[in-house]
Amino acid sequence: MAEDYLAHLQAAGEKALASLRRHAVPPTAINYAVWFTHHAGQNPALSRVLRGLEARGDPLDEVRHLELAERFLGRAAQLERIQALVGEADGTVEAIAGEIGGFRTDAAAYGATLEGAASRLEGAARLDALAVLLAELKAATLAMRERADALERELGRRDAELAAVRAALLKAEEAISRDPLTGIGNRRLFDRALKKLAAEAAATGAPLVILMVDIDHFKRFNDTHGHPVGDLVLKLVAAKLAERAKPPRIAARYGGEEFALLLPGSDLAAGAELAEGIRAEVAHREIVLKSDGRSLGTVTLSIGVAQLRPGESADRFLARADAALYRAKEKGRNRVERATD
Ligand code: GH3
Ligand code: MG
Ligand code: MG
Repeated sequence: MAEDYLAHLQAAGEKALASLRRHAVPPTAINYAVWFTHHAGQNPALSRVLRGLEARGDPLDEVRHLELAERFLGRAAQLERIQALVGEADGTVEAIAGEIGGFRTDAAAYGATLEGAASRLEGAARLDALAVLLAELKAATLAMRERADALERELGRRDAELAAVRAALLKAEEAISRDPLTGIGNRRLFDRALKKLAAEAAATGAPLVILMVDIDHFKRFNDTHGHPVGDLVLKLVAAKLAERAKPPRIAARYGGEEFALLLPGSDLAAGAELAEGIRAEVAHREIVLKSDGRSLGTVTLSIGVAQLRPGESADRFLARADAALYRAKEKGRNRVERATD
């Protein structure tokens, strides 16, 4: 019984392929379904129309096949038909596996019913019509999956490349923003931070303070102890400032023996208090040479403090802090001066 039915399907499949060849259209799933349905006697209305068209000698091109499929099978019906064929083939092929020599069982690799059926049908010569259809579907599935895999690999590569470029840019940015002697930020970093923080403060209304810090009589210190020792002192002062300027605060070497701090969120009083703490600590710290234990005495700092005023430009803000520093020098150095308007 099952074998009669199988023979019937097989005959319909072979006739369908012959019809496709006769009309010179490719054995796609839809084209195949039209003729298979007709030859299997499963849709009398479709068969009537096909017979009429063939009798009149009308050309049956792919567009016409599509129209017929749309009209008589419907998209859902086409899919169901194909799935049903796969299902039937799946079951019957299992049943006749013993009869067919060389039946291959390497199909296990394919999880999906469709793929599994297609692979198993490869060895079933008696179902070659169906096998053509299914092999085509399987090839399309595999090709799509390969393309998706390739795309994914390509995306992964691009992602890694981009990450490397970003890291390199970050490193380069870091390198050109740092003072090589002291390791803290340089003037470039400071200028950029000032612009950014001033804009933020203007937008939010939060306070922002600048400290301009200059080592007193540093030329004299260098002349007395030599430039290399002067360098050590610059490092020492920079380390002290960095200690007090953890993020989001910014500490930078603004020029030769001049440093600058930016304190977002601090007002003039808090800024002046911090400045006084730094001044006092450095002034009381005796500088001792590690190499031979020789004492070099102390260095002192003069510091100007300013708080950003509403509507003030970054340049004007900086100029006021600088003026305060100049006043600290004038008043005798080793002191903190607040900026006026
Ligand atoms: P003032 O109290 O008015 O600031 O006097 P000053 O001597 O500190 O100021 P001045 O501007 O006359 O001299 C700055 C000195 O800073 C001159 C220079 O020898 C020293 N200096 C600048 N950059 C460096 C550096 O990278 N290393 C060393 N060792 N010294 C530097
Ligand atoms: Mg100086
Ligand atoms: Mg100076």
